[in-house]
Amino acid sequence: MTQPRWLRNVRPYGLTAEDLLIENGRFTQRRPASTNELLATDIDGQNHLLTPALVESHVHLDKTLWGQPWRPNSAGPTLKDYIANERRILREVTSPIAQRAGALLENCIARGSLTMRCHVDIDPEFGLRHVEAMQQLREKYRDLIDLQLVVFPQTGLISRPGTAQLMREAMALGVENVGGLDPCGIDNDPVAQLDFVFKLASEFDRGVDIHLHDKGELGLWQIALIADYTERFSRQNRVMISHAYCLGMLPWSQVKPVAERLAALGISLMSSAPADCAVPPFLALRETGVNVCLGSDGIRDAWSPMGNGDMLERAMLLAFRFDLNKDEELAAAFEAATVNGAQALGYEANRLEIGQPADFLLMPVQTLGEAVVSRPLRQVYRAGQLIAAGGRLLDSRL
Ligand SMILES: [Zn+2]
Repeated sequence: MTQPRWLRNVRPYGLTAEDLLIENGRFTQRRPASTNELLATDIDGQNHLLTPALVESHVHLDKTLWGQPWRPNSAGPTLKDYIANERRILREVTSPIAQRAGALLENCIARGSLTMRCHVDIDPEFGLRHVEAMQQLREKYRDLIDLQLVVFPQTGLISRPGTAQLMREAMALGVENVGGLDPCGIDNDPVAQLDFVFKLASEFDRGVDIHLHDKGELGLWQIALIADYTERFSRQNRVMISHAYCLGMLPWSQVKPVAERLAALGISLMSSAPADCAVPPFLALRETGVNVCLGSDGIRDAWSPMGNGDMLERAMLLAFRFDLNKDEELAAAFEAATVNGAQALGYEANRLEIGQPADFLLMPVQTLGEAVVSRPLRQVYRAGQLIAAGGRLLDSRL
């Protein structure tokens, strides 16, 4: 039990100034902003923008080189070249996952992400080592961030003997989601991969999250197949398709019927809003009722030297990618990095309502649009307690 305290003079979503009472880590009352003198227990919101905390819906912490000496990207041109290059680099890196992933995790929390989905590699070469390290990391930071894991067959599932058994063992360890990867492009056997993934998810009652890079009509056909499996195995509202570039490559008239199925089945899409390739059409999908959320994907790893773990920056990249200029469009980009992510990950969306956890950000800007465009330094609160400011976690555990 903690002493009740008022969060004074804040503007939820940029609207009229209010005070909110925080008790036992939750919002319990709200009132118009009072002009009474601040009490010692009050949090002075300084008329700042109040928003929910950010949601990182797709990241690979276990593979990051965050905090390591700079390593020029050495991958060949194809997806398979990138996978082989990463295997080589992960063999060479001596810094443990706890150190690299822990440093990046602290950075993400400090920038305001308090909910996260992390894909974790399994591979017959190193077994469940990454899963076990990430589970330990999750325990270490449990009071600061809600972190869920996806077991991810990066080097193939059906085409890589031994991987299926490891995925089953990861489920037994408590990993929340079954991952998949290009059922056609990597495994050359879409039915076998999706059969395995959905049967495993159904048996352990878990979610599904599939990386789909396969392009054009081949990609769209697999999305329709994933929708079939979602229905057949009753995984409605628990399936995510990550990337789905194909949805941005085909005419909307061809994409729309599939998008309507995604909306009806509660299948979410995750995009990192990349600049170099087709991206699912954000506004058209949103209008069709498809839940689109955002993720960083790889941050400073063997795939990409880019990324800083700031989901506000990811919202800006989405806005930049789709030329979102109106305030309501920028607010939609902010939603993709907050409530849409929570919905996709199966958490109650934080909307700063009474009764909800007091996980929030304070930013010295006027509106959500200005926050997305300017990505200001921010104060990060978890359960009503200040945990980060100025881009730094107050209590580093490294
Ligand atoms: Zn990924």
